[in-house]
Amino acid sequence: MKIDPLPRPQDSHFYEITGSSSSFSWVAAVKSWFRSKELPASGGFGDIYDVAIIGGGPAGSTAATLLARAGRRVIVFERENFPRFHIGESLLPFSMKAFTRMDLHEKILRAGFMKKFGGEMFGSCSEIGNKFYFKDAYRSQTEHAYQVTRADFDKLLLDHSAENGAEVHEHAMVEAVTFSNEHVDLSIKRNGSSQAVRARYLIDASGRNSVLGTKLGIKKTYDHLQKLSIFAHYDDVSRAEGIDGTLTALIRGIDRWFWIIPLTAKRTSIGVVLDNDTFRKSKLSAEDFLEQTLAEQPIIAKRMTNARRVSKVYVATDFSYRSTKLHGDRWLLAGDAAGFIDPIFSSGVFLAVFSGEQCADALNEVLDRPRKARRLFPRYERTVNRAMDIYLRFVNAWYTKEFIEIFLAPRDVFGLPPAVNAVLGGNIGNSFAIRWRMWVFYFLVWLQKHYAIVPRLTLVPKKEDAADMVTSETASA
Ligand SMILES: Cc1cc2nc3c(=O)[nH]c(=O)nc-3n(C[C@H](O)[C@H](O)[C@H](O)COP(=O)(O)OP(=O)(O)OC[C@H]3O[C@@H](n4cnc5c(N)ncnc54)[C@H](O)[C@@H]3O)c2cc1C
Repeated sequence: MKIDPLPRPQDSHFYEITGSSSSFSWVAAVKSWFRSKELPASGGFGDIYDVAIIGGGPAGSTAATLLARAGRRVIVFERENFPRFHIGESLLPFSMKAFTRMDLHEKILRAGFMKKFGGEMFGSCSEIGNKFYFKDAYRSQTEHAYQVTRADFDKLLLDHSAENGAEVHEHAMVEAVTFSNEHVDLSIKRNGSSQAVRARYLIDASGRNSVLGTKLGIKKTYDHLQKLSIFAHYDDVSRAEGIDGTLTALIRGIDRWFWIIPLTAKRTSIGVVLDNDTFRKSKLSAEDFLEQTLAEQPIIAKRMTNARRVSKVYVATDFSYRSTKLHGDRWLLAGDAAGFIDPIFSSGVFLAVFSGEQCADALNEVLDRPRKARRLFPRYERTVNRAMDIYLRFVNAWYTKEFIEIFLAPRDVFGLPPAVNAVLGGNIGNSFAIRWRMWVFYFLVWLQKHYAIVPRLTLVPKKEDAADMVTSETASA
């Protein structure tokens, strides 16, 4: 097969000059120009890049922006044309620091994304839930995160990468990757033909498609978390006034859980997560299943009295999993390509941005001193694994009934609620103050299994509540 060199924009080193970023660095641009003059010839494959990135989601665009701002030659391949639909709409406050570092806040505010001030959880047997606000978290640094339509948010992030000097190619799918001691070669499918590009290092940020994880056979699923999700967007879902109207609501049923995420003044994302088998056994279509299961939940049905579905019904399968290795000599995995843990705590975009940032920092050092890879790549793997472990433990606890029983009966002893709130907001630091409180929290969840230290819950909607909902819906129809 003939492989043509991938065309590059003229003077693409200085692409950032045309961008609007306020923090364009002349020093970085000059360093980048000199560095490019030292690069080895690449055997007829055209210029060699410092870093090639597969995927333009939050992990890929974060890494691209930071590396480009450090003066590195970065090329991003995204198989879709942005904006494209994506699930994962509720962000965590601990991503805000990375947004500050990338100078994104002004653009995010201009785009008008809804500020999110916290969350609320319910058991599906009662309308009495427990709200938490990010401002009350242990050592809270910001009172809000955002609720975002991912099509717009991901485009904003990827455009920002390009404005900061990364070469971004959309509608360009990476179809093959080969490694040598010195570099990595990618084969890109674009407009029906294959093209080649060579880079010194590769970041796989291809999301749940997991290009390298699949190629290398290192993607391992968590058998006990084989879930599936069915979701859609709705208009006119009723919500509270003020900041309570911005909260993500989670409703825990006995064998499934639901999210309600306000996206704009009019639009709301609603979905359910359950075992693959339970859905398969229902023999219902995704549309019918979603409609039926939402109607059975009084808390949701009440909010949806006047709602109408404005998107198709989506189904996401294949979670949760982790790659057994997050790096090789010439590659790093970031975001969902590294691992994906159940979406219950909205940790996905946070972990994507976090790992994108961490791998950009590691690569930036390694590009100057390649021998540092021996220390920095394993450290990257440990850091990202540790972050995923924190959420995995949280998720495992969530799927016990006792988690929600303890969560819905908070007692402000030992500062437990602020510590749990901090982890829910993405505080995965090494603070001992949070860690020992989390141990106590998990101990209480374990204790609840054996002794009812707080009231037991059925997590089954009360029949009369559901019947009331049907009656009031019929009346208002
Ligand atoms: C049901 C559900 C609900 C969720 N809810 C939340 C939530 O509320 N909050 C939250 O933070 N997270 C949530 N998530 C998780 C979130 O969607 C992901 O964690 C997040 O999108 C990961 O970002 P990423 O950049 O790693 O991957 P992605 O955002 O998936 O980006 C990867 C990109 O790579 C591209 N790509 C793939 N293969 C190739 C290829 N061969 N060549 C070129 N490009 C390629 C894809 O087109 C895609 O654009 C949810 C996930 C699910 C399944």
